[in-house]
Amino acid sequence: MRILIAGFNLESVTFLPKPTTLDEFERVAKRGEDLLSSFEDTNTVPGGFIKACKDEGVELVPLVYSEVGAAASATDEAFDHFVDEISRGIRAELYNLDAVLLGLHGALVTKNGRTDLDLVSEIRRQIGNDLPLGVAFDLHGNLDPKFIDYAEVLSAYRESPHIDMGDTGERVGKIMIAKLRGEFDPKTVIQKVPITLPSIFTATKVAPLCEVMAEARRQEELYANILDCSVVMGFAYADVPQIGISLIVTSKNDHDTSNKVIAHMSKLIWDLRESLYPKDSVFNVRNGLRKALEIKKNEQKPAVILEHADRMNDSTYVLHELIKTSNERVAVPYFWDPQAAKTAHAAGVGSNILLEVGGKSSSKAGQPLLIEVEVIWTGKPKFQMGGLMGKGRPVDLGVTAIVKVKNIFIWLISANISAINLDPFEQFGMDHLDFDLVLLRSKTHFRAVWEKESCGIVIIDTPDWGPALLNTLSYEHARKGVFPIT
Ligand SMILES: [Zn+2]
Repeated sequence: MRILIAGFNLESVTFLPKPTTLDEFERVAKRGEDLLSSFEDTNTVPGGFIKACKDEGVELVPLVYSEVGAAASATDEAFDHFVDEISRGIRAELYNLDAVLLGLHGALVTKNGRTDLDLVSEIRRQIGNDLPLGVAFDLHGNLDPKFIDYAEVLSAYRESPHIDMGDTGERVGKIMIAKLRGEFDPKTVIQKVPITLPSIFTATKVAPLCEVMAEARRQEELYANILDCSVVMGFAYADVPQIGISLIVTSKNDHDTSNKVIAHMSKLIWDLRESLYPKDSVFNVRNGLRKALEIKKNEQKPAVILEHADRMNDSTYVLHELIKTSNERVAVPYFWDPQAAKTAHAAGVGSNILLEVGGKSSSKAGQPLLIEVEVIWTGKPKFQMGGLMGKGRPVDLGVTAIVKVKNIFIWLISANISAINLDPFEQFGMDHLDFDLVLLRSKTHFRAVWEKESCGIVIIDTPDWGPALLNTLSYEHARKGVFPIT
């Protein structure tokens, strides 16, 4: 048995002005043997695909995998490039393959409005109908129910933080292999639930969402014919008709039971909609900083401040206020500013320079800050990711500099990556316990590590592209009747 694996993965914030280009996808793309060696034994979707195939003695054909993370809509050039590369790669092996496994996000959008559904339907058109396709999605995909017309096995992460990326790839791989062996005939139903939530409220261990996820697991146990019940939370910052929550239920060809599970889960989620959207639990900048200092008082671990609305890791709202008012020792890990990183790197360790930092990705990122900093570290770090989510995957921060203003340490990086674990400290010989406050830009993924490593978490809402208050965004494409936006 031979299975090809590939992926083209982006969470698109369609409101952001500058697109995600082919170059940005190419910078992180892995192909052939490099794909295998980069992802084998990692907690990632391709890592899970590889494990399923190896466990079952299936031969792997590693084609191409590129995952940018969360950024602006892709250029159509990048989309066409990867659709063509994946389709050509499959066609070249068509008669020697038994199946294809794809790692997609589900919230990919191009500048012209094409999505993951267009990607899968175009690949299907190019490769014909004989080869089964399996797809592993992110928990934040805005899935279109029409996916079932083009792919035979579909599932999504069950956890946010996504500590189960490897398990999800493995689940899709194993269901596909069982199907190929004729052990059962998996059939999937996808149904929308007309709710979309800000990513900040999609942490799956936080109530009441943890109860929804527990009920999905209970449904899988209750019915022997149900193989998988994925609750896909959707992505509120991609303005597309199929925005919002979806249920993917896969059974052993038992539509009646699938429909029963879908009706039960839909009602449960719809009835909880108001409490799933606790929009009053966030702070403005000033009150949030005051709250963080209150929490930190007499505690050994730092308090985490979450500037969650920042989708590009370069917003300056909280940093500006910290520079004005804070005397605490503050860590600002993974602040995306390739220009400032390059300038600080060129100036060298020990120099004091005037630097314009942050606020460059859009007019909503706050203003760039002109500050005098001391350069305390520079380099081009490459390492394997620590923590739980994505553990082992390759990280390349590009040109990086740690600069200091007052008692505030800022990690200026060139790759756009969110800080979610202790890598920014451990990879640089630092200790997070030496800091009073840590300013992060993650939504839920930081929780896997920072719930334990902090004395508390304060969520700050800013007028950025990923706010908790969704009524501050102008939706044009979302369908009517989606709570709380249309
Ligand atoms: Zn996600």
